[in-house]
Amino acid sequence: MDHFQLRAGTLHAEDVPLDTLAAEVGTPAYVYSTATLSRHYGVLREAVDAHPAAFGDALIAFAVKANSNLSVLATLARLGSGADTVSEGEIRRALKAGIPAARIIFSGVGKTDAELAYALDVGVRQINVESPAELDRLIAVAAEKGACPDIAIRVNPKIGAGGHAKITTGGEGDKFGIPADEALALYARAAASPHVTPVGLACHIGSQIIDLTPLEAAFRLLREMTLTLRGQGLSVTRLDLGGGLGVPYSGGAETASVADYAAMAAGVLEGLEVEAAFEPGRLLAANAGVLLARVIQITERADGRRFLVLDAAMNDLVRPAMYDAFHEVKPVTPRDGDLIAYDIVGPVCETGDTFARGRDLPPLQAGDLVVFTGAGAYGAVMSSEYNSRPLVPEVLVDEARWAVVRGRPTYDEMLTRETVAGWL
Ligand SMILES: *Cc1c(COP(=O)(O)O)cnc(C)c1O
Repeated sequence: MDHFQLRAGTLHAEDVPLDTLAAEVGTPAYVYSTATLSRHYGVLREAVDAHPAAFGDALIAFAVKANSNLSVLATLARLGSGADTVSEGEIRRALKAGIPAARIIFSGVGKTDAELAYALDVGVRQINVESPAELDRLIAVAAEKGACPDIAIRVNPKIGAGGHAKITTGGEGDKFGIPADEALALYARAAASPHVTPVGLACHIGSQIIDLTPLEAAFRLLREMTLTLRGQGLSVTRLDLGGGLGVPYSGGAETASVADYAAMAAGVLEGLEVEAAFEPGRLLAANAGVLLARVIQITERADGRRFLVLDAAMNDLVRPAMYDAFHEVKPVTPRDGDLIAYDIVGPVCETGDTFARGRDLPPLQAGDLVVFTGAGAYGAVMSSEYNSRPLVPEVLVDEARWAVVRGRPTYDEMLTRETVAGWL
C-alpha cells in the first residue's frame, strides 16, 4: 500500500498532483510520501512490538544508505527510528536529522581510524565489528581516547540471499562479517579488552530477500552462538538481525509479510532475553518514493520498435543498469487506447541506460509525464552527474504540502565546484 494514487485521471503523491510538481520543480525529480514512510515504519514497529518477550526493547534502525535525504531521516526520527550507518557522513546525516547517537549503529567492512574516532566522540550506540583487523584498530583508537564502546561482532553465516549477486552479503565468499568459529574466538578476545565491551552479535545476509528461509537459518546461527558464548561465561545482551526484507516491485511479486518475518524472528529468539535490532532500508523507503520523468520523444524504428526516450537516465536511477532491477513505469495522466510496447531509455550515451525493454504501457506522447515506482530506496542516493547531467532533485510531500528537500544544482553551480588547474 502506498500513497501514489490516481485521482480524477492524474497520479498524485498524497494530495499533490504530480503534474503540478513537475511544472514547479521540473523533471526528472524524486518525490517521497511522508504517509507511506510513516505507514511502513508503523507496520514494522507494530509487528516487532507484538513480540515483547522475544525482542525486548527493540530498536528499528533505518539503513541510511537506502535513502539518506535529511528530510526523510527527520521524518523517521520523529517516529522514533534509529539509524544503521556505514560511514562518518551517514552518522553526521543521522545526527543532523535528529536521530540521537544512542540509536545509531555503525556498520561497514572498511571503517577508517578517523571514522571510528568520530563514532566514539559522538557516542554511537554500538559499533558492529566486521573483522579481527578492525577490532585491533578499534581497540587502539578507543585506548587512545580512554573510551570503551559497546560493540557487536558481525557474523558471516555463509548464507547469502538477496535479489541480485551484487546485493548478497552473507555468502562465504562475500567480504562481510566473520565466520562463526572465528567470531566466537574474537568475541572472547574483545571481552578480555578493557577498551571495548562486546554486547552482542550481528548479521545482515543480503537485500531484497523475499523468502524467510535463509534469514531464519542465519538467525538460528546467532541463537546457537549466543548460547555458546553464554556457556563460556560471556554476556550477550543484543542481537542485531540486519535488514534485507524485500518489497514488491511489481504487483504480482510474492514477498514475505512483515508480520510473518517478525513472528519467525521472535520464534528463533524466544527465551534468549536479548534486545533485538532491525535494520530495514528498502522495506521502509522503496515504495515511499517515485522518480518523476518526462517523455522527450518517441523514436520509432522501421521494424516497429518504439523507444520511449525520457529525461531521466541511469545517472538518476541506476538500479536497472546495475542490478537488472525491475521498476514499474506508469503514466501520470494515462491516455485511453490500446497498450503499446515501449523500450524505455534515457539520454545517456551507453546502452546500459535502458530502464526496460518491451514494456506495455498506455499510449504516450512527447511531453507526457511518467513515474518509476518503488524508487525511494537506492534511488537518489546512488545518483550521479554522469554525462554532466545536474544531480536530480528530491521533493517530500506531506498531505497537501510539499517541499524541495534537495535542490537541482544549476549548471553554474555544477561547473563552479571544479577549478581549472592554475597552469592551464
Ligand atoms: C544495506 C544494509 C542494510 C539494509 O538493507 P535493506 O535490504 O535495504 O533492508 C542493513 N544493514 C546493513 C549492515 C546494511 O549494509
